[in-house]
Amino acid sequence: MTEVSILSLVKSYGKAEALKGISLNIDHGEFVSLLGPSGCGKSTTLKCIAGFEEITDGKILFDNKDISRKLPEDRDIGMVFQSYALFPHMTVAQNLAFGLEMRRVPRAEIKQRVARAMDMVQLTKYADRYPKMLSGGQQQRVALGRALVIEPAILLLDEPLANLDAKLRDEMRGFIRDLQKRVGITTIYVTHDQDEAMTMSDRVVVMFNGAIAQAARPEDVYNHPATEEVAKFVGNANILELPVAAQGAEGTLLTLPGGGTLNLPGTASGQAGSLMRLMARPEQIALVDPSGAQLGGRIAKRYFSGGHIEYHVDTDCGPLLVLGPTSQTVAEGQAVGLSFDAQRLWPMQGGVGTASGVAA
Ligand code: ADP
Repeated sequence: MTEVSILSLVKSYGKAEALKGISLNIDHGEFVSLLGPSGCGKSTTLKCIAGFEEITDGKILFDNKDISRKLPEDRDIGMVFQSYALFPHMTVAQNLAFGLEMRRVPRAEIKQRVARAMDMVQLTKYADRYPKMLSGGQQQRVALGRALVIEPAILLLDEPLANLDAKLRDEMRGFIRDLQKRVGITTIYVTHDQDEAMTMSDRVVVMFNGAIAQAARPEDVYNHPATEEVAKFVGNANILELPVAAQGAEGTLLTLPGGGTLNLPGTASGQAGSLMRLMARPEQIALVDPSGAQLGGRIAKRYFSGGHIEYHVDTDCGPLLVLGPTSQTVAEGQAVGLSFDAQRLWPMQGGVGTASGVAA
């Protein structure tokens, strides 16, 4: 069953269209992230789902029922904001109880449900503390508990970790993800941080300029991006533009500068004589001995970054970024060979042009 269906959703502010007719289905229990640069429409989408913004056109369905015109309090959602939005004069337990009191839940049941929610977000021993006596991460767990205690059908989170420092943010990613799986609640998570979206989500929805560019599993968004814009937003992407030497049933033969060739398996369409644009992630290129290598280059810059070494390599295909293991170190200025795993090169959509012209 589809839990949330967004159908051709348009949201305009005056003449400006913040959402240009987006459509998306989210399954029961799924964790979906809306990912994209600032201003692309992520928060607007979430606010339309929550009912904090009136939609201009289109529909939003929960369990196949149109809720587009319902008030936020009638939508069965729990919401967590970047700013926590806790009541400062209430203790943790009182913050959690508030939503239930508003819903006139009997006192004994409130007590039970608050105790359960505090346990879920691991705050039982802080029940009587006020928000200002808690760390940022603890405060955000109160906000999570407060959203979950009302047992909503859908959990909406808007950049909930943006105010936390890097270490805590990492911990909270795991915490939220585990909790979401345990509770099994359909979750929509807004972030501009690609690592966060990738590590937490079942599916990542990449947005630009009020439209969805791709909605897919994290692995697919990373390895098989729908557009170059997606490729570059979700990680570092090298784009190679290579002439097609021949196209056969078993693959595409591409020519590298310096005479090397690459045989791209599969059915990527590229006619002989055209140019093909391919994406290679930095960790998918290996530095090898220059003699007999597919492509030659020279190390322009080298940066040690803990887990790996980052090389900026000047090549006849332009500058390429390569990630190498710390067990292999190559000095700046050194001539190197580059080796590509043709299986993992990804032809970019619309990336075919003519050899004499400019690729699209
Ligand atoms: P994101 O969450 O991806 O950063 P938003 O959804 O907040 O982006 O904004 C999308 C676009 O809508 C932006 O161009 C923003 O300026 C515009 N926008 C958002 N809220 C309003 C508003 N209340 N009035 C006018 N324009 C708005």
